[in-house]
Amino acid sequence: MFEQRRPGAVLFDRDGTLIRDVPYNGDPDRVEPMPGAVEAVARLRRADVPVAIVTNQSGVAKGIISPDQMDQVNARVEELLGPFDAWAICVHDDGDGCTCRKPAPGLLIRAAAVLDVSPRDCVVVGDIGRDMDAARAAGARGILVPTEATRQEEIDEAPEVAGDLADVAERVLGDLEAATPVGAGARWSRAMGWSRW
Ligand SMILES: [Mg+2]
Ligand SMILES: [Zn+2]
Repeated sequence: MFEQRRPGAVLFDRDGTLIRDVPYNGDPDRVEPMPGAVEAVARLRRADVPVAIVTNQSGVAKGIISPDQMDQVNARVEELLGPFDAWAICVHDDGDGCTCRKPAPGLLIRAAAVLDVSPRDCVVVGDIGRDMDAARAAGARGILVPTEATRQEEIDEAPEVAGDLADVAERVLGDLEAATPVGAGARWSRAMGWSRW
């Protein structure tokens, strides 16, 4: 049902999805893209699909990494993967009662609002059940890209499972590229820098 529709945006989880998961990483030198990440994001940009990052960073709430370290890591992500149209970051922890930490849908809703699209028109890509639960709660299309760390139960419960990020780009764009004239989509400028709350 989704395949022929151009998505309003693709919202990516960061750790374990776009870059290798280094728990509570505050070191930009340890940022390493996941296989196919650079190409998949570039393909979406070429198709004029806005791309955003929606990421839980409880290391900040725990005091393990500073906001400045997090910013440095995020800047490195953009050096390696290119600029994202929006970033939505939860710096809280379980028990803080925030509305943004995945599996809550707040980050997705915020990113969609910044991009001026409906969450229902967004695709959410992540590596764990929390990402898929957030997608479900926001009414978005969720695609799980499992890693070695993804539990079988999370895979079984995912609305959709892709083998890798190239597969995600193919699932999202499908035949759209052939059917849509180059440059026909909306042009997006970078809508915001870091947003934390
Ligand atoms: Mg993750
Ligand atoms: Zn939060």
